[in-house]
Amino acid sequence: MVRAVVVGAGGRMGRRIVHTILQTSGIGLAGAVERDGHPAVGQDVGDLAGEGSVGVVVGSDLSRVVDKAEVILDFTAPEVSLKSLEIGAEHHRAIVIGTTGFSPDQMERVRDLGPRTRCVMAPNMSVGVNVMFKIVEEMARVLGKDYDVEVIEAHHRFKKDAPSGTAMRLGEAIAGVLGQDLETVGVWGRKGLVGERKATEVGVHAVRAGDIVGDHTVIFGGVGERLEVTHRAHSRDNFARGAVKAALWVVDRPNGLYDMQDVLDLRGKG
Ligand code: NAD
Repeated sequence: MVRAVVVGAGGRMGRRIVHTILQTSGIGLAGAVERDGHPAVGQDVGDLAGEGSVGVVVGSDLSRVVDKAEVILDFTAPEVSLKSLEIGAEHHRAIVIGTTGFSPDQMERVRDLGPRTRCVMAPNMSVGVNVMFKIVEEMARVLGKDYDVEVIEAHHRFKKDAPSGTAMRLGEAIAGVLGQDLETVGVWGRKGLVGERKATEVGVHAVRAGDIVGDHTVIFGGVGERLEVTHRAHSRDNFARGAVKAALWVVDRPNGLYDMQDVLDLRGKG
């Protein structure tokens, strides 16, 4: 039995991850952590996830429970996940990070700390989106530079970072295939007299509305036709299932920084 500790256990994803762990054989809960002062602290984590008491009380200090677990699952905020990664590396615990919105400096720190333990980090843990990453690369390869690429994402009103980590990853993957760097060719929304679209642009657009769990569309626009690929998440459970799958996968790996392409064995395929 793999023992897990969930950081951000009172959050939207944290609760679904707790629920999924409790429903999955081969993995159990050894601890749960929330930020100091969060109403979940002191509560039984099973009650929080609507599963009934499981005898694991939410604490506010990962370093106090980390040694009881083999793997940490963290869906919180970049600075929190970095701290969890530091603790994971120090205590040689595997870690799954689903948090998005890391700055380039914070990503540098992840690349430094991640390989000191076993770390899976991915902006989207759903199987469908990871297949979409592969498909859009292939489409970009075939359609080449003749089609205009636009990425559109939509999320709930509470989401803090924009564009989503998944939209960034889609844009980076396509720009990479086209021999470009998203930081150079990315266009983050448009307003005013922006002039004609440049052939190299990769447009990225973020919609925020209501309780949308997460939609991503990539448009390849040609003359006389367009090709669109869309993924829609109906609930957070597909992300939670992916995170638990990643946790079970990563505990036995050699030290390294991995992503869902590794967990799902999609790397290099297609
Ligand atoms: P949320 O705000 O509902 O949850 C985050 C939780 O982290 C909150 O409960 C918050 O109190 C907690 N937290 C903050 N500081 C903490 C600390 N110091 N210690 C412990 N817990 C702390 O957000 P969410 O919708 O659950 O999303 C969380 C992150 O996961 C976001 O970055 C989001 O983009 C990302 N996400 C990733 C995937 C994926 O598949 N990779 C899917 C959905 C969301």
